[in-house]
Amino acid sequence: MLEKVVIANRGEIALRILRACKELGIRTVAVYSTADRDLMHVRLADEAVCIGAASSAQSYLNIPSIISAAEVTDADAIHPGYGFLAENADFAECVERSGFIFIGPKAETIRLMGNKVSAITAMQKAGVPTVPGSDGAAGDDGEQTLAIARRIGFPVIVKAASGGGGRGMRIVEEESALLNAITLTRSEAKNSFGDETVYIEKFLTHPRHVEIQVLADGQGNAIHLGDRDCSLQRRHQKVVEEAPAPGIPQDIRDEVAKRCVDACLEINYRGAGTFEFLYEDGNFYFIEMNTRVQVEHPVTEMITGVDIVKEQLLMAGGQPLSLRQQDIELKGHAFETRINAEDPERYVPSPGRISYYHAPGGNGVRVDSHVYTGYTVPPFYDSLIGKLITWGPDRPTAFVRMQNALDEIVVEGIKSNIAMHRDRIFRDPGFREGGVDIHHLEKKLRS
Ligand code: ADP
Repeated sequence: MLEKVVIANRGEIALRILRACKELGIRTVAVYSTADRDLMHVRLADEAVCIGAASSAQSYLNIPSIISAAEVTDADAIHPGYGFLAENADFAECVERSGFIFIGPKAETIRLMGNKVSAITAMQKAGVPTVPGSDGAAGDDGEQTLAIARRIGFPVIVKAASGGGGRGMRIVEEESALLNAITLTRSEAKNSFGDETVYIEKFLTHPRHVEIQVLADGQGNAIHLGDRDCSLQRRHQKVVEEAPAPGIPQDIRDEVAKRCVDACLEINYRGAGTFEFLYEDGNFYFIEMNTRVQVEHPVTEMITGVDIVKEQLLMAGGQPLSLRQQDIELKGHAFETRINAEDPERYVPSPGRISYYHAPGGNGVRVDSHVYTGYTVPPFYDSLIGKLITWGPDRPTAFVRMQNALDEIVVEGIKSNIAMHRDRIFRDPGFREGGVDIHHLEKKLRS
């Protein structure tokens, strides 16, 4: 069992990890930037260490500083949360070389999955269905690339192998635009991710984003916790998630989940992970794997009763997975809305002081948030200020509970996207019915 964990993150996920540590009797070390002294988890942690200036580069991405904090506090493990260093293989390696446990997969697994080209190749080998595409990086030979695209059929999407966060992608409608799009995506990828490798995939025109949550201990045990639907997106970024994905035939669901579990065993995966798929016309197509806890993990927790962060901590402590597939029973339905401090018209971050905050409540309502009245949202980081999660015995009940929660929540002093969730998304007949595709929200917001 781990004794002391450094929480190498901030905001709601840092608080989430702290709560799980406390439940397991694990002591906690908060590491924070000079802009984050007032974070809730910094107050609540057993120890707190300032690791640098406000900019992420000097604090939450500052590897030596985080390792030093683990050393001076004599911690035994580091939890990276999501974002920042969570999928940085060099960090994972550095943590382990310094004698600490990295709460996540082995560095080599992060490296394999961090590159979308090698991830897709590994998944094809493991029998997971992928999107028809270039089957590897696009080369320099224009004619060859055009031939591949013709074989796949237009439209295609050019994607950066090291891309993430919805960046590094370009849709190409016709042949004449392909080579130029590759050149542009390459140079953007080089600038943003330091890697100019790109590949081509068929651009699916009306897919849903459906993903499978897995847990694996790296000791020969792996299970899945069902699926989530994250099709409500803006600029390829998730806005609302739900579990399970509505309206997918049970046999198709079971088959893809089983393949994910087999793939975990094949690559000897360790920790919590997510296989992301596009789902169109009854078929699943793998797009990438996230080797960390995800923002939307609570919807799965609500329908399975499994605490994913606690499982991460237990497995990192060396315990074999205690859950078996037959122990996992999916019950009811859950939604999550991401509450962002952002201008509702221009979608740009809106930092500042929260002059009044009131959290919703009631049966089946969960709020994962670090904010409170008087808290100042700093301008340096992601604009996520919290997540509202509702559960119900069925989808309509969970839906109404989210409407109620959105009616109740009050955040004053800063701008937020609460009204968009309340008045547009959770009043939308299409979404209420379920099963909308990844373009639904953008179409709706334009109308
Ligand atoms: P990132 O790592 O930036 O999140 P992903 O590969 O996971 O990138 O893709 C993010 C989103 O982009 C998907 O959820 C989907 O909306 C869209 N997308 C990606 N690949 C395709 C594709 N082949 N066809 C259609 N949409 C795609």
